[in-house]
Amino acid sequence: MKVAFHTLGCKVNHYETEAIKEAFVSRGAEIVGEEDPADVYVINTCTVTNIADRKSRQFIRRARKTNPDAIIVVTGCYAQVASDDVAAMPEVDLVMGNNRKSEICGLVMEKFVAKSSTEAPAESLAAEHGAGAAAKDRAEVRVTPRDELTFYEDLGKIKSASDEMSRAYIKIQDGCDRFCSYCLIPYARGPVRSRKADEIVEEVRNLVEAGFREVVLTGINTALYGTEAGAEHSLSELLTMLDELETSEDFRIRLSSLEPTVVDKDNVEEIIRHRRLCHHLHLSVQNGSDSVLKAMNRHYTREEYLDIVFMLRNHDPLFGITTDIIVGFPGETEKDFEDTLDIVKKSAFGRTHVFRYSPRKGTAGAAMKDAVPEQIKKERAEALESLGEKAAKAFTGANLGITHTVLIEESCDGYATGYTGNYIKTYIEDPEGRIEAGKLYKAVLTRTFRDGALAVLE
Ligand code: SF4
Repeated sequence: MKVAFHTLGCKVNHYETEAIKEAFVSRGAEIVGEEDPADVYVINTCTVTNIADRKSRQFIRRARKTNPDAIIVVTGCYAQVASDDVAAMPEVDLVMGNNRKSEICGLVMEKFVAKSSTEAPAESLAAEHGAGAAAKDRAEVRVTPRDELTFYEDLGKIKSASDEMSRAYIKIQDGCDRFCSYCLIPYARGPVRSRKADEIVEEVRNLVEAGFREVVLTGINTALYGTEAGAEHSLSELLTMLDELETSEDFRIRLSSLEPTVVDKDNVEEIIRHRRLCHHLHLSVQNGSDSVLKAMNRHYTREEYLDIVFMLRNHDPLFGITTDIIVGFPGETEKDFEDTLDIVKKSAFGRTHVFRYSPRKGTAGAAMKDAVPEQIKKERAEALESLGEKAAKAFTGANLGITHTVLIEESCDGYATGYTGNYIKTYIEDPEGRIEAGKLYKAVLTRTFRDGALAVLE
């Protein structure tokens, strides 16, 4: 049986795809490319924006065209929040919500066996009525309502990370209960559930022994790890356990992000004292204006955010901070936008990801008045992107002459490229391809270059 996967969205989705893939492989399936003919297509969808929904639908249709007779499984956040819409697509056979991903492999195997024994009628149906005909009126839906998503779904321990050359992403948590007013994710992912710390530590050990030198701890809202009633360990305790883990080779840990709507300066101070943690945090500020933050239901002020930034830079002046910012939230004035520009200047971000606000049906933001015109959103986004690039260059400039540990990810155009612990993209000249991907090298940053810095091995 040939199985193809297509994954949209965040690293949690990618991790879950890896776990589903490994379940199929362990039962003898062959994994093929997403555009190749396959017996089964698993589409792990995302619903973070309207565009993500559209891309999910496009790929479902494309898979059906590639093999009119395949079993098409749709899972992930779009399948969770819009299961009726997905099930109504004639191309779809099976709709599996979040927390039902561990059932996919067994269910598909059963369907495949049943289908193989009735192969002739299915084929003739497709031949008679064209692509997708064989799938009509038979989408099966297995979706658990949001409030019943109460347990952490065990997808086993992954042994590899086939999308990644050098970093391994590990899921430690699911769900979010913060309901930021622009975000649909708490509806798609349900309440907070944390994975058992022992399972995480064991999975980290396996991946480090398999050769990974950087492990990224990821979740829907990583900062919420261990915060639900009955949780056994806090995030800080988990990091202590990982600091104490003995492995044949050393490794470093990165957190995929920390939400300032969950953590304050004291929490962050406790977290960053862990020795294996990279000196880099992704702290999504989302906006620099107190009134917009309030409307976004973010529960912190710009001063509280800056307190975290200044504490981090006090701890290490070259601590890398990256961020996300939404421009054009309803009611955002020119003065609000100036506050956002100001927070970018003060924070010296290593990277600033800028998003133009677009309302998501079902969120509080979608009902808000005073929409910002698209042209103004565009102008603000461009101004912010330009400032973000300047800030990134300045941050890289402050690191020149300093030795960093770089995890090499790939070789391209005669350069070995990777990231420092504080998340500067690094290019090392390597015309003969001697530098190995997946290994840590000590290198001195010499000058700003492309989207990062040029470096020489120490
Ligand atoms: S913290 Fe806010 S933005 Fe992040 S997942 Fe939760 S609701 Fe969405």
